[in-house]
Amino acid sequence: MTLLYTDPLFLKHDTGMHPEKPDRLRAITARLEKAELPKKCAAGEYKPLTEDAVAKLHDAKMVKLVKQAAERGGGHRDPDTVVSKDSFAVALAAAGACAAAVDAVMKGTEPNALCLVRPPGHHATPGRSMGFCLFNNVALAANHARTAHQLTRILIVDFDVHHGNGTQDVFYEAGDVMFFSIHRFGMGFYPGTGAADETGKGKGKGYTLNAPIKFGTSRKDYHAAFRAALEKAADTIKPELVLVSAGFDAHAKDPIGSLGLEVEDFVTLTREVLGVAKAHAKGRLVSCLEGGYNLEVLAESVQAHLEELLAFKP
Ligand SMILES: [Zn+2]
Repeated sequence: MTLLYTDPLFLKHDTGMHPEKPDRLRAITARLEKAELPKKCAAGEYKPLTEDAVAKLHDAKMVKLVKQAAERGGGHRDPDTVVSKDSFAVALAAAGACAAAVDAVMKGTEPNALCLVRPPGHHATPGRSMGFCLFNNVALAANHARTAHQLTRILIVDFDVHHGNGTQDVFYEAGDVMFFSIHRFGMGFYPGTGAADETGKGKGKGYTLNAPIKFGTSRKDYHAAFRAALEKAADTIKPELVLVSAGFDAHAKDPIGSLGLEVEDFVTLTREVLGVAKAHAKGRLVSCLEGGYNLEVLAESVQAHLEELLAFKP
C-alpha cells in the first residue's frame, strides 16, 4: 500500500488569482476519488512542523517574515509568492506531512508515500521564500531523515520542470544528501540556475547533479537524459531513502512549463525512481507534490504517478 497524505487545510493557502491555487488540489482529489484510489491507500497521519524545526533549516528571520505576513492578514514574499492569513499554518502543515511520511516509510509498515501538499517547496532557499514556495518541504523532510533517523545517504529526485534551486542551495555542501534535478533550462526560463556544471562544493562536491533540458527536446531524449543521470546519482549515493520533488509542469499542456511530456512519461519516471528505491533503499520512497498548473493534466498525471506507487512490489 501507499500512504497518502492529504488535508483540506492545504486548500487554505489562499493565493487569489494565481496559477498555484487551491483548485489544483481539488482537481487532484476529485480525480483520485473518481478512480477510487484513496481507499486503496493508507491514510497518512501527521503533525505540523514547529516553527523551531523549520528554523533549523531556514533562517529564523525568513520564517518570521512568513509568520508576520500571515498575522497581518497576508502579503507577498516576492511578486509571485503569496502569503495569506492561513499560509503560515498551512506551510508548517505541508512540511509536517512530508516529515511524517519519512517517519512512516522508515518504520516500514508501508514502502512508499505520496504527499499532496501545498504550498510547494523546492524553490525556497535557506534564506528566502520564492517561486510560489514558502518553506522547502522536501529539504525539511530530508533533514528530518538525517536527524530523526540518522540517515547518511539520501537521494532527492526533482522532475519538476523548474530547477529546484532552493533544495540545491540547502544541500550544496552536503555529502549525505544527493540532489538530482532534471529541468527546462535556458532562454531565461525560471529560476535560471541548474546548469550542468553546478555539481556541489566542499564535502558536497559531486553530490549535486543537474540535467538541464532545452525547450523542444524530444521525449525520447528527455528520458535518455533522465535515465543516465538517475543511474549516476543512485550509484554515487546508494540511497537509504529516496525523496521525490514531484512536479508535473513538464507536461506539454502545462501553461508554465510546456516541455513536451505526456502523462505516460510520468509513469516511466515514477517506475525508474521506484527501481532505484528498490535496488538501494528497500523500496523506501516519499513523493512530495511540487508544480503542475493545467488542472486536468495535473490530476491525470498525479493519478498515473500514484497508480505506479501503489503497484510497487518490494
Ligand atoms: Zn515547477
